[in-house]
Amino acid sequence: MTCLLCDKSLDDQPTWQHFLGIQEDTSACPTCLVKFERIDQVIEDDRLDSVHSLYAYNEAAREYLHQFKFMQDVALAQIFSPSLRSVLNDSKKIVVPIPMHPINKRKRTFSQVDALLEAAKIPYQSLLEKTTESVMGEKSRSERLAMTELFRVTADIDSNEAIYVLVDDIYTTGTTLRHAAEALKQRGVHRVEAVTLFRPMREK
Ligand SMILES: [Zn+2]
Repeated sequence: MTCLLCDKSLDDQPTWQHFLGIQEDTSACPTCLVKFERIDQVIEDDRLDSVHSLYAYNEAAREYLHQFKFMQDVALAQIFSPSLRSVLNDSKKIVVPIPMHPINKRKRTFSQVDALLEAAKIPYQSLLEKTTESVMGEKSRSERLAMTELFRVTADIDSNEAIYVLVDDIYTTGTTLRHAAEALKQRGVHRVEAVTLFRPMREK
């Protein structure tokens, strides 16, 4: 087996998991993994009861997302499987991936968030559908606020009492997650949390 990020052989180097005595799928070498800065930042947001971001959006993260999203290297989904499993292992919570717009999905051939969850073998429910193209950067603030909904709930909500956990690759302005949370709350869901792989950190 070779490291998915640098192609070096994984056989001749000890992995963190081996150190800890845990049998985990080893898909990247320690030298590559150490470049990702684990932050585990948990914040509260306007419409979200909590947002847990796992890693800083640093240079390694940028390269990773570029390779994963735009070069369509679906194998890269495995790299974060152990970390995602560790925070999404609560069977009482319902995991809901942030979907991509159908047009983008056709262009990119796979949904990155679904791929991350599938690689980690985390059960999820695709309850949301995007309703508008996300070209937020090209709109003024008032135009953005006037856009009423970005997501539609496409299936029945089984339990209002369950905790729903939105999953996305990156938390930047939070607009996407807030709109998704709002769509679920309008259908009677009481508590919506979120987990994102990356979050940009302010320069110190
Ligand atoms: Zn490597």
